[in-house]
Amino acid sequence: MGVAEEAVWDIFRNPSPRRKGVGAPGDDCALLQPPPGRSLLQTCDQVIEGVHLLPSDPPKVYAQKLLRRCLSDLAAAGATPWAAQWTMAIPPERGRRWMLALAKAFRAEAEAFGLPVAGGDVSQAPVVVLTCTLLGLANGKVPGRGKLRGNETLFVSGSLGGAVSSGRHRCPEPRLALGQRLVEHYAPRAMMDLSDGLVRDLPRMLGRSPEQKAGQVAAWGADIRLPKLPIANELEANPAGWASAIGEGEDYELLVALAPRQTKAVAEDRVLQKFGLREIGQVVPQAGIRFLDDGGRSLRLKAKGWEYGWR
Ligand SMILES: [Mg+2]
Repeated sequence: MGVAEEAVWDIFRNPSPRRKGVGAPGDDCALLQPPPGRSLLQTCDQVIEGVHLLPSDPPKVYAQKLLRRCLSDLAAAGATPWAAQWTMAIPPERGRRWMLALAKAFRAEAEAFGLPVAGGDVSQAPVVVLTCTLLGLANGKVPGRGKLRGNETLFVSGSLGGAVSSGRHRCPEPRLALGQRLVEHYAPRAMMDLSDGLVRDLPRMLGRSPEQKAGQVAAWGADIRLPKLPIANELEANPAGWASAIGEGEDYELLVALAPRQTKAVAEDRVLQKFGLREIGQVVPQAGIRFLDDGGRSLRLKAKGWEYGWR
């Protein structure tokens, strides 16, 4: 291993969050001993120069986005972050300084979330290619996306839209405490983080119903009350604001489906209110997503959400 790579791993061996059961980088494999009786959740994510961030973005932004979007997946499972591994491949011309600045920034981000880094890999590539794998501890029953029965109330956290155009997507806020509280107290029927826009992500939740897959019921759909949808402040006066709120993507807010009997308790939960958890509509036993106005009339909105352009 060259000197620069060693210097990267020294950053994670020297005082950095340590946790019982999570070894420091240095061996071929990370030895992990999770607390007895706890289930582990695993997720991975990537950040690619020119796809998720600009070549001109500083290393700190690369580190923030990489870790936080991955943490957002743990938030969607209501999990407690437990250990991280990550890989970096950078163009040689970015140089050792950029590389070490990235490693230090990743360590600082991990520290901010109390997350030990157990290892990873360093390589070169024509553009910056980063990956992150996170392990989390389950806190009770993990909802996943697929336990809908066709009568749930839908909620979202925070506000939607404008994340890309405002630059907020560069440092998303993973809703970890919210996800944990929901899983511990309200057993959501389904939960996910919104990364590609409500119009792309909600069908992913609706389409996961086991009964539907087995052909036992018609497809689930959803009625969304558009005036209830929390929209980013800067979009309120913008005629394209709604399209951005449902289709721009990179919100990293939680979409939550709860049994109807829990709606009242959730609406009155002060901790959940702090996260701005808002009721936005209903799951219905009728395919498709309908956006409704105050009078219950169906509105035509054009938004397709984030899609990679494959040829
Ligand atoms: Mg996700």
